[in-house]
Amino acid sequence: MFADQDGLENLQPEAYKSLYEISRIILQTHDVAATLRQIVRLARPVFIFDNIVLYELKQHQTLIPTYARSIGRGRSMEADMAWGETIAQEVVQTTKMVVNRQVSGFQKDGKVVNRLDMRDYLGLPLRLDSDIAGALIFIRFGGPAYKSEQIHLARLIAEHVEQLLNRQRLVERVAALNAARQFDRLQEQFVSTVTHDLRSPLGFIKGYATTLLREDADWSAEDRRDFLIIINEEADRLSAMVDNLLDSSRLQSGTLPMDFQPVHLAEVLQDFVKRIQAGDYGLNVQLDIDHSPHTILADSARLVQVMDNLITNAAKYAPESTIYISLIWESDKAHIIVRDTGSGIPTEHLEDIFKRLYRLPEHRKTAKGTGLGLFICREIVQAHGGDIYAESTSGDGATFHICLPIKAVPEQ
Ligand code: ADP
Repeated sequence: MFADQDGLENLQPEAYKSLYEISRIILQTHDVAATLRQIVRLARPVFIFDNIVLYELKQHQTLIPTYARSIGRGRSMEADMAWGETIAQEVVQTTKMVVNRQVSGFQKDGKVVNRLDMRDYLGLPLRLDSDIAGALIFIRFGGPAYKSEQIHLARLIAEHVEQLLNRQRLVERVAALNAARQFDRLQEQFVSTVTHDLRSPLGFIKGYATTLLREDADWSAEDRRDFLIIINEEADRLSAMVDNLLDSSRLQSGTLPMDFQPVHLAEVLQDFVKRIQAGDYGLNVQLDIDHSPHTILADSARLVQVMDNLITNAAKYAPESTIYISLIWESDKAHIIVRDTGSGIPTEHLEDIFKRLYRLPEHRKTAKGTGLGLFICREIVQAHGGDIYAESTSGDGATFHICLPIKAVPEQ
């Protein structure tokens, strides 16, 4: 706040009116740029200036112009001459107001010839929590020098800008706190879901291993084999879950390695389907492939991972369904369609199923899963510059579309 009230009594009624309007606007919003635009509009009729610049001290104590506007004669000036950065530095260093006239260029009879060669700078310190936080600079070309009541008016405007910055800082702090709280909540939710899901295969493994180790029981060779099969399957499931978790956190941190090579998508899909048919997914897979000799630039192992997840999901959520896989080459993209004939996905969940940890409410209790698979699929497809989305009419199966851009890759 300014102790010096000099000039206050000379303020014109219009100046008071503008100040009142400025105070009103400041209370309504914390959008600094929009409010400064309004302040300029309101202040200009009662206080002539050509340029106004707001400098804020940002990280490492660097002065950054966060708002600048040329209104009058300054509009034709070279920007670096007219923005008063050295004045702003002086204001921040001394933490005091700076009133300064600079004259350059050709002069005749003690008078400047070009009005733009005479610049009156008025630099006002801005404080946040009593620390210097920046400077508000007014620049006027060709005189006259600032009068004391004008300086006072500029100081009052600067005080309003301080309030605005203070409010903005508070809003940012609250937003950062909320984001941190939300992150903590998600983290807790994630840990508890994951712990719960990892416990289930671990429970099987421990249970059957303990059973086999019991010395008082005499298990037949067939029983032993059945128990070992369960242990083996559950260990595989555990390992797949750990892989998924790892992929998911690497995707989040942007460190999942991708190996892009020219890939014959048709061949990759064919091999994949052969593997599915040989496995025990219990699915009838129908393949319909356009064999045009295109290649795309892709990480084939990651694409197979995407397909594998879609098929594993179909086996879980649309058991005994027929799966239709097709590949269509469109003008600029390869379009893979995976359709099942299960009970489908309600429309309102079609986008959410790609979110990390999201599962349909009806599947949370009935089927095992982590809700990471489709999240990983989308991240992988997007890393290829493509897109994946789902379509479904409830009760009539789910269709997943994967679109991958065709890049100009030479045949190898
Ligand atoms: P997970 O299968 O581990 O739960 P996903 O991310 O792969 O995780 O799938 C998210 C959710 O989307 C599943 O939990 C399920 O509710 C739903 N879903 C995925 N595929 C299908 C499908 N083919 N039919 C019906 N629901 C599906």
